[in-house]
Amino acid sequence: MRRIDCPHCKREIFYRMVKDVPTFPFCSERCKLVDLGAWLDEAYRIEEPASAEALRQLEKKERGENG
Ligand SMILES: [Zn+2]
Repeated sequence: MRRIDCPHCKREIFYRMVKDVPTFPFCSERCKLVDLGAWLDEAYRIEEPASAEALRQLEKKERGENG
């Protein structure tokens, strides 16, 4: 069993796999929506989407390739 704290209300959640918690990493749909709402609020202020090139670089790094 693993344990995480709900990022919103700090309640403990015990789970074996992430898919056991439909609202992961939140304890409930309510916490998820509240937190997501706050996050979207932030996101609207950020107007710099990750470029395709940046994503390719990341993929390369993960595979350990040098070009
Ligand atoms: Zn919660």
